[in-house]
Amino acid sequence: MNNVTQAVRLASVYCQERGELLTPLRQKVLSLLLQSGRATKAYTLLDEMRKIHAGSAPPTVYRALDFLRSVRLVHRIESINAFAVCHNLTHCQQGILIVCQFCGVVSEIDARGIHHALMDKIESTGFILIRGKLELKGLCSECAIKTI
Ligand SMILES: [Zn+2]
Ligand SMILES: [Zn+2]
Repeated sequence: MNNVTQAVRLASVYCQERGELLTPLRQKVLSLLLQSGRATKAYTLLDEMRKIHAGSAPPTVYRALDFLRSVRLVHRIESINAFAVCHNLTHCQQGILIVCQFCGVVSEIDARGIHHALMDKIESTGFILIRGKLELKGLCSECAIKTI
């Protein structure tokens, strides 16, 4: 059993425990993201799906992605409009995402303390936060070596 199969199995149990079902289609989308190992565009996933099921339509992939996001197995990377498996898979810390702008590798920083400090600052301005997902742009260690 390889890592991807193992991760999908883990995710499947995780969904079951929440009364959700990781259907074969959802499993497939998750495993494509796991194989990619980085932020991947929805249409790239659709292309991969079409290699397996020629008739795959965009809504099926989007619905699977919506589900995977709702159970926090997958994150949407807004700055590049792509999707990545949660760095912690079934133990999402809801932290700050840091995205390599070259290769799309995503990591997640546990930042509970930072979040609290930030919320205090926001409150002091009188603002109410509507969307608070933090996303940082960076270079992963491999890309940093290549480019600097
Ligand atoms: Zn996460
Ligand atoms: Zn990189």
